[in-house]
Amino acid sequence: NQLVVGLTGGIGSGKTAVSNRLQTLGATVIDTDEIAHSLTKAGGLAMPDIQRAFGHEALLSDGSMNRDHMRALVFKEPEQRIALEKILHPKIRQLVQQQLDAGAPLYFVLVVPLLFEKGGWGELMDEIIVVDCPVEQQVQRVIQRNGWPETQVRAVIQNQATRETRLAGATQLIQNNGDLAELVEKIDFMHQKLIKKAQK
Ligand code: ATP
Repeated sequence: NQLVVGLTGGIGSGKTAVSNRLQTLGATVIDTDEIAHSLTKAGGLAMPDIQRAFGHEALLSDGSMNRDHMRALVFKEPEQRIALEKILHPKIRQLVQQQLDAGAPLYFVLVVPLLFEKGGWGELMDEIIVVDCPVEQQVQRVIQRNGWPETQVRAVIQNQATRETRLAGATQLIQNNGDLAELVEKIDFMHQKLIKKAQK
C-alpha cells in the first residue's frame, strides 16, 4: 500500500511552494484545488450541474465558472456554498481516487487546503504535513501575491481553521517563517524522511 501524505496550511502559508518542490524531488502531487479548477473551467465536468443549480450568472461567456460571482455568493449565503460543494466534492473525490489508483513511483502528496475545515479527507492520508507560519506573514504574502486589500485577506483567514487547530492535526510540520532558501532546505529534509516511510 502506497504512502499518501496530506498537505495543508492556511492561505498564503506556502503549500504551493512545498508541493512544487516535492514534485520536483519525485513525489506524485494530487492537488484538490487544481482538480476543482479543472472541473469548473470551460467544458469542465461540473459546469452543466453548476449552470442548472445557479443559473446563467454563474458562468462567464466562455462557459467557465464566474469565480468572482460564485466567491461572493457563497461568502454571503452558506447554503449556496453547501450546494456548490455538493456538486464539486464527489467529483473531486472520484478524480483523486483515480489518480491514487494509478500509483506513484515514490509517494503521493495530496494537497487539501481546507483539510481541517472539511471532513472526509483524513482517512486517505498516512501523514499530514501542515505548512505553518505566523498570521502576519500570511497576510503580507497574500497582499503581495494577489494584490488584495488587507481586510479581504483577514476575512479569508477568519473563515479558515485556526493555526492551533491545524498544528494539533499535523503529524509533520514545516515552519515556513524564513526565506525561500530555508524553506527548500526544510522540504528536502522532509522528502528524505518521507522516502524512508514509503519504503517501510
Ligand atoms: P494559497 O492557499 O493561497 O494557495 P499557498 O499556501 O499555496 O497559498 P504559496 O502560494 O506557496 O502559498 O505562497 C504564498 C506566496 O508567498 C507566494 O507568492 C510565494 O512565492 C510566497 N512565499 C511562500 N513562502 C515564502 C518564503 N519562505 N519567503 C518568501 N516568500 C514566500
